[in-house]
Amino acid sequence: TSSMTSIALPRTRHQMPLVGFGLWKVTKSTCADTVYNAIKVGYRLFDGACDYGNEKEAGEGVNRALKEGLVTRDQLFITSKLWNTFHAKEHVKALAERQLAAWGLEYFDLFLIHFPIALKYVDPTERYPPEWYGVDGKTVELQNTPLQETWVAMEELVDLGLVKNIGISNCQGSLLLDINRYARIKPQVLQVELHPYLTQESLVALAKELGIAITAYSSLGPQGYYELSMDQGAPSLLTHNVITSIANWHNKSPAQVLLRWATQRGTAVIPKSNIEKQYVENLGIQSFSLMPDEMKAISALNCNLRMNDPADIDPRLAIF
Ligand code: NAD
Repeated sequence: TSSMTSIALPRTRHQMPLVGFGLWKVTKSTCADTVYNAIKVGYRLFDGACDYGNEKEAGEGVNRALKEGLVTRDQLFITSKLWNTFHAKEHVKALAERQLAAWGLEYFDLFLIHFPIALKYVDPTERYPPEWYGVDGKTVELQNTPLQETWVAMEELVDLGLVKNIGISNCQGSLLLDINRYARIKPQVLQVELHPYLTQESLVALAKELGIAITAYSSLGPQGYYELSMDQGAPSLLTHNVITSIANWHNKSPAQVLLRWATQRGTAVIPKSNIEKQYVENLGIQSFSLMPDEMKAISALNCNLRMNDPADIDPRLAIF
């Protein structure tokens, strides 16, 4: 498995790269150059979302690379996500089309429901991206759209050729089982927070059993949350002695060890960085392997510590 570079998605057999580039918090003003440069150094998967507010810029980077012939469209794997305010069936397609136009693309390789949470619709001409809060900027307004309605609308995007694969993010096992009961097109990918402080063994096992590929987000644990003060005071994994001692032994960086732990568990990763040295380093993780006892020692750091929890925004959003 050490040389494996992609996961075949169960329905379409499309190859999803094991290491991709996360676009959350990628600076808007430099996003186009960052994406273009990331393609140049070898990235093929980009993980975007309406909510990240940089889809237009990411698309500029992609299209510059396409125009220059650095890659062809079918060599790229572009992921985007349906935001919470667009869960009603009449809004799903309109949003996907708006997002495709922003990227300047004809289809997404993967489209995910960002959260299994339906929020009150916000007209994109009023506010885009709409984010969590209603018009007053401080209250979360729920909307009564059942997830099944949203899933059926996602399936229609596949029928229309607007997206190749569909999946869900921030979803627990019971909900995965439920979608699987009614889905005409089963979820292909589950994207969830996974790192040594939050290993979610049973969810990973269930997704595997259901044939759903997993993408781990925030693989570096609290690292991406320090800048947002969402880190819960957790000590950095990059300086944790379990991680640094394994990293020194392999002559790799702590980030590479964390990412390799994830891909060796069979999960794809989408690390984010604005810094070239970091994202180049993150791409080079399939050339070494961790020993079984190292994998175990890293997994033993689990303390069920979740950084990205909508309940912190509003207690009614306690989905986990
Ligand atoms: P991450 O785990 O990728 O960590 C990012 C932080 O680590 C940044 O501060 C970066 O500078 C630093 N970093 C990256 N590589 C490094 C290296 N080699 N050495 C040292 N530091 C390094 O965090 P993330 O941004 O939370 O997650 C990655 C991606 O996952 C996001 O960009 C986004 O695409 C996706 N994501 C999705 C959801 C969701 O709800 N579906 C939620 C969070 C993140």
